[in-house]
Amino acid sequence: MKKVLVLEDETNIRSFVVINLRRAGYQTIEAGTGEEALEQLKKNPDVSVALLDIMLPDMDGFEVCRRIRAGNSRIGIIMLTARTQEMDKVTGLMTGADDYVTKPFSPAELTARIDALCRRTGGGGETPADAGEISQPPFLLNTRNRTLEKNGQRVKLTQVEYSIIKLFMDNAGKALSREEILDAVWGKDYFGEVKIVDVNIRRLRIKIEDDPTNPTYITTVWGYGYKWGF
Ligand code: CA
Repeated sequence: MKKVLVLEDETNIRSFVVINLRRAGYQTIEAGTGEEALEQLKKNPDVSVALLDIMLPDMDGFEVCRRIRAGNSRIGIIMLTARTQEMDKVTGLMTGADDYVTKPFSPAELTARIDALCRRTGGGGETPADAGEISQPPFLLNTRNRTLEKNGQRVKLTQVEYSIIKLFMDNAGKALSREEILDAVWGKDYFGEVKIVDVNIRRLRIKIEDDPTNPTYITTVWGYGYKWGF
């Protein structure tokens, strides 16, 4: 059974989320503060997805996200944002979150997002023929370990970032529309906004480009999408 950490200080919302996740077949772990969440993750390294509220009594959800990502690139992270926190979506994704859900959300929407994230981060989905390496100097993608090296140096990627790079490398030189990227990485059933592609690309560029403001690997195809620019 997949484990989900629910970090939310408002007990009503937390109970509502927990009840619905259990009903959907997830095991849940609860936290009411950022510190508690980080402690729970230490005790439960097998958590698949963390749901992080932003406004919390101690550190905010972005800081929690940053601290989780500093030690764990595999876990899926979904931020729970309020409608009024429009900017927070982008900030959250830049600190390493994979997705966000806007409050108030329906249980169906939340579980759909978690299911989709679990499928993406589940690993083990590679077919044997797919296992191996893709070498496109200066990059080396190991599809067995799902890791990326640039000039022999490991680049720490989230599972979503890995999926994007893999898609690019499989389609080197081909312009991919943002919708194509969204479908391939997030799944056709994803009902978030296409903007999430841009934010993830921005974060990826910071990690892999020599000069992120003047990208040469992930290039923009204006009005369309992106291209792995070799
Ligand atoms: Ca809160």
